[in-house]
Amino acid sequence: EVERLRLPPWLKTSIPTGSKFSALKEQLRGLKLSTVCEEARCPNIGNCWSGGKHGTSTATIMLMGDTCTRGCMFCSVKTSRAPPPLDPDEPRNTAYAVGQWGLGYIVLTSVDRDDLPDGGSSHFAETVREIKRQNSEILVECLVPDFRGNRESIATIANCGLDVFAHNIETVERLTPFVRDRRAGYRQTLKVLETAKEVNPELVTKSSIMLGLGETDEQVEQTMKDLRSAGVDCVTLGQYMQPTKRHLKVFEYVTPAKFQQWESRGAQLGFLYTASGPLVRSSYRAGEFFITSLLK
Ligand code: SF4
Ligand code: SF4
Repeated sequence: EVERLRLPPWLKTSIPTGSKFSALKEQLRGLKLSTVCEEARCPNIGNCWSGGKHGTSTATIMLMGDTCTRGCMFCSVKTSRAPPPLDPDEPRNTAYAVGQWGLGYIVLTSVDRDDLPDGGSSHFAETVREIKRQNSEILVECLVPDFRGNRESIATIANCGLDVFAHNIETVERLTPFVRDRRAGYRQTLKVLETAKEVNPELVTKSSIMLGLGETDEQVEQTMKDLRSAGVDCVTLGQYMQPTKRHLKVFEYVTPAKFQQWESRGAQLGFLYTASGPLVRSSYRAGEFFITSLLK
């Protein structure tokens, strides 16, 4: 067995601080809302929750349960062919808690629900409508499954009143079969992003790439270009981290300088914003970047 790579210094993080962060953490107590930020012990929580110059704090929550019908090689979410049924009260309860909380930008994501006829798209969309109904100020990003490319399900999301439509490509084309569930596909992901834009051209679309899986620079470059060709507006690039020993090994730790290069490249390719860095995740400071790019 290959020895695991040693963690480089730039991936060691400190405990978050800051008054906005503490206030949000305090407010969250008593609201029945569990965030991916806390549950995944995401190292960016201090940055995301504090919201930067414009105070647009970001948090991520997961809808439709904790059990996925797929099993990607990089992901630690548990898998089952028949996850428990959806909670019909989830849209309303989530919206209430989000509305009480005082965030600027919420990222809603979910497991894949291939067991449901519409992949859960109507449930997802209902949650967005409830959030907007209860608090029209809050910006909503949906980081959605591929719905197997089903146009109707994609349209349900694209027209639900969300601000940003995100779907992750995760890796370069060559590595896709080794990284993602076999039902996910590189071309399908591009198609999903393209369809969302077609259905609602006003939408900001977004995707995310993990680095450190053995991809070459040319392949990363090609993936960014493919995303642009699919009309994708924003891209994020971050280091892949192995969640448990049973998951894909890290092939390499990409240096901060390299991530910086991809950030510049993203700007040249015409992305509205490119967030690129070792700790960057799909939802990393999303509210802050969104507001800043609109003010440009
Ligand atoms: Fe939360 Fe995403 Fe930010 Fe992590 S990167 S703290 S999960 S919003
Ligand atoms: Fe994880 Fe998403 Fe893959 Fe499900 S589809 S295993 S939640 S990455």
